[in-house]
Amino acid sequence: MIELKQVSKRYQGQAGMFSAVDNVSLTIDDREIFGIIGESGAGKSTLIRFINALEQIDEGEVWVDNERVDHFNKKQLRQHRKDVGMIFQQFNLMNNLTVEDNILLPLSLHHYEDTIAIDELLEFVGLADKRHHYPSQLSGGQKQRVGIARALITKPKILLCDEPTSALDANRTDEIVAVLKRAHQRFGMTIVLVTHELDVIQNLCQRVAIMEAGKVVDVVAIQTNTAFK
Ligand code: ADP
Ligand code: ADP
Repeated sequence: MIELKQVSKRYQGQAGMFSAVDNVSLTIDDREIFGIIGESGAGKSTLIRFINALEQIDEGEVWVDNERVDHFNKKQLRQHRKDVGMIFQQFNLMNNLTVEDNILLPLSLHHYEDTIAIDELLEFVGLADKRHHYPSQLSGGQKQRVGIARALITKPKILLCDEPTSALDANRTDEIVAVLKRAHQRFGMTIVLVTHELDVIQNLCQRVAIMEAGKVVDVVAIQTNTAFK
């Protein structure tokens, strides 16, 4: 379970300090697909990055599986981050590495007890025929599928998705939503997804937090769109 308790984060803005995240409390259950929606600048990216401590909080508490993440030392943090995968709007692939080597990259950085075989993963994201290609030879949808495979290879308990479809057109967006849905069915991780796109929330998420100017103004259960595969 992920718990944010009265979390705030301030930045220096043009007119002085302001709260990018303002006294937010949220609980996200294990295996849930939880969305965070709001306009640009609402604080979504900052909020999601508290979960793997890529962003430090100024006030409040961040708990994951009954451990206080914002008090972790370096060693605990390294261990925690091994349990959290992340995918990004701009994919963040290494352009000088092939598809296969991009996906294997996490394994060269840390030791993981349990991983998914590269062949199985390439098959799972539909890139078996692209394994020796470079990112520049791929479409956006394909690049994001590499990003998803790279995040999945370490079998994370939590998958953070920061605007995963915002650089993609509608068809590629549906394709990525479908891959994330299949990944959730197969691996059963908790997914926390930030987006400004309502259709992504409706097609994928079980609940959504609505953010405005740093605050969560509502948390709503989503009626699953069963027409979507
Ligand atoms: P969202 O993901 O909803 O677009 P962000 O969390 O990226 O929002 O940003 C929230 C607010 O905080 C925005 O006004 C943004 O400009 C500001 N912000 C984000 N990161 C920084 C930073 N490192 N320094 C100063 N301001 C920042
Ligand atoms: P997808 O395969 O994700 O549905 P598209 O329909 O956008 O992707 O692309 C079709 C094909 O065109 C892909 O197999 C891809 O290899 C190629 N392609 C798309 N965009 C680019 C690009 N920017 N550079 C090189 N090849 C591309």
